[in-house]
Amino acid sequence: MLRVLGTVLAALAGLAFGSFLNVCANRWPRRMSVVKPRSYCASCGRTLHWWENIPLASWIALRGRCRTCRAPIGWRHPIVELAIGALWAHEAWRFFGEISGSGLLPYDFNYSLTIAIGDCILCWILVALAVLDAENLWLPDWITLPGIALGIVYNLIISALQSLYWFWQQNLITTLERALVAILAAACLILLIRLIYWLIRRREGVGMGDVKLMALLAAWLGLISALLAFALGVVLGALFAVILLSAPSTRKQAGGWALKKIPLGSFLCIGGIMNVLWGERILDAYRQWAQF
Ligand SMILES: [Zn+2]
Repeated sequence: MLRVLGTVLAALAGLAFGSFLNVCANRWPRRMSVVKPRSYCASCGRTLHWWENIPLASWIALRGRCRTCRAPIGWRHPIVELAIGALWAHEAWRFFGEISGSGLLPYDFNYSLTIAIGDCILCWILVALAVLDAENLWLPDWITLPGIALGIVYNLIISALQSLYWFWQQNLITTLERALVAILAAACLILLIRLIYWLIRRREGVGMGDVKLMALLAAWLGLISALLAFALGVVLGALFAVILLSAPSTRKQAGGWALKKIPLGSFLCIGGIMNVLWGERILDAYRQWAQF
C-alpha cells in the first residue's frame, strides 16, 4: 500500500517537475527568467489560468491548442511531463520495494533513498539537456559543469554510506580518485573523436558540449556505464540518421546528409537514462555472455 501511494506521489511530483522543465526549455534559450512572468501563451501572450497549467491534463483537455488563439502547444510538453513522471515513479517503485523487503537496516534505507533521489536528479538533468540539444543544438555549461560536480558529490555520499565507519576517509579518497579518472577518460574519448572528425572533415562535428556531457555521465554513472551510455547513444543516433536519410523529403531538402546536424547530445542523454533504468541488467547480461 505504501509502495503504491509513494509511487503515485512520485509520479505527481515528476509531472510537476516535468512541467517546470518545459518552462526552462522554453525560456533558457531566450535568456529569460523561469520564475517571472507567469506562464503565458507564446503566440498571443495571454497569461494562463491555473487550470490551463496542470501538467498533462490541461494539454489533453485543451487538445494541444491555446484556448484563445488556437496556436498549437508542442508535443514536447506532454512528452516531457510524462517522461519525468514515469522515471520518478519507476524510482519510487524500486525504492519502496527495496525498503519493504525483510532485514531492513537503517544503512540500507539511507543508501536506497540516496540512490533513488540521485537517479531522479540525474534523469531530470538528462531530459533537460536532451530537449535543449534537440531543439537548439545547445548544451549549456551552467548545467553540465555543476552537473559534473553534483555527480562527484553524489558518489562521495554513496561511498560514505557504504563504508564502515573506520574506513570512510580511505574510501572517500578512492572514490574521488576513481571519479576524476572516469571524468577525464570519458572527456578525452570524446575529445579524440572530435579531433578525428575534424581531421577527416575539417569541420566541427562533435561539440565541446558533448565532451562535458560525457564527463557528466562518467561523474554520475562511472566510466563503464558512461561508455555503455555512449555506445547506446551512438547506435540510437545512427538509427535516427538512417531513418532520416531514407525519408525522401528530408534527403532532397537537406542537400546531402553530411550537412544535416544530428543532436548527438540528445542521444547520449537517452543512452544515460537507459543506463539508469537497465544499466545493471545490460552489464550483467554482458558479463554472463563474456564469461567473466
Ligand atoms: Zn494563445
